[in-house]
Amino acid sequence: MLPTGTTGDRLVLGMAGGGDFRVIAAQTADSIELARLRCDLSPVAAAALGRALTSAVLLARLLDKQVPEQHVSLRLEGGGPLGPVIAEATIDGRVRGCVGNPQYEDTDCDVGLAIGTDGNLTVVRKSPPLMKPYTSQVRLVSGEVAKDVAHYLATSEQIPTALLLGVLNRPTGVAACGGIVIQSFPHTTTKTIEAVEKAILDAPPLSSLLAELPIHHAVARVLGSVGYKQLDPSFDIPIEYHCRCSREKALQMYRYFPPQELGEMIGGGTDTEAVCHFCGMRYIFTPDDLLGLELGTEN
Ligand SMILES: [Zn+2]
Repeated sequence: MLPTGTTGDRLVLGMAGGGDFRVIAAQTADSIELARLRCDLSPVAAAALGRALTSAVLLARLLDKQVPEQHVSLRLEGGGPLGPVIAEATIDGRVRGCVGNPQYEDTDCDVGLAIGTDGNLTVVRKSPPLMKPYTSQVRLVSGEVAKDVAHYLATSEQIPTALLLGVLNRPTGVAACGGIVIQSFPHTTTKTIEAVEKAILDAPPLSSLLAELPIHHAVARVLGSVGYKQLDPSFDIPIEYHCRCSREKALQMYRYFPPQELGEMIGGGTDTEAVCHFCGMRYIFTPDDLLGLELGTEN
């Protein structure tokens, strides 16, 4: 498990246009930088995962079912060289994610090409105590993540939204990462929706705003004259990169190995290493650890 600590990452809530729009925004740079360091992500992998993780934490709040442990996962699989991108978030701000080929390099940092469009975005929601999954799938439309998630919200959830995502990589690491989702209501007029669309078009890229401003100021800057009012900061939700892996869970994975292969690992006399794709944690198991597992299976 990763050490947890206080970062500047958080999710903020607000309204725009005097109540015509619900706004949810997240600042996630510290979490993505931690993921980059622990999983050795290339810049384009960090950009893709940053967009996906930010989307997941925004969706967990947007699709609020008033369940404290509601869990949302996104899987973007478009056949591109980056492989699948997986992002998970809980409604209380814990995120984790991974990419298929974390070291894939692209000098243009083109997330759309890296993810590809020959495939689907799959969204799974689970709520305790039953954790029965609700799965929804749409075709990828751009591989850029924001358009894909907005397309999912419009078609699968019938929630009209604008979604902005931004990640800024510097040679030293992830300098900025975050996102804003702006949801209109049935009473919102076409004129005010057009005003928001124009404000978004006229605003500087979100990644450059987030490099200079905290998230709530960046949202106010994007919405400009439409007007943004943040809810009391006591409603802010801290976001942290949190992996649920453990030595015991990693060991239990070997139960699914073919018996012959497990037997060879035990008989080989050397230690076995398992690496968590979500946080880079390495777990070492001795032949005796695996033998105990095998004996346990027989009982
Ligand atoms: Zn882990």
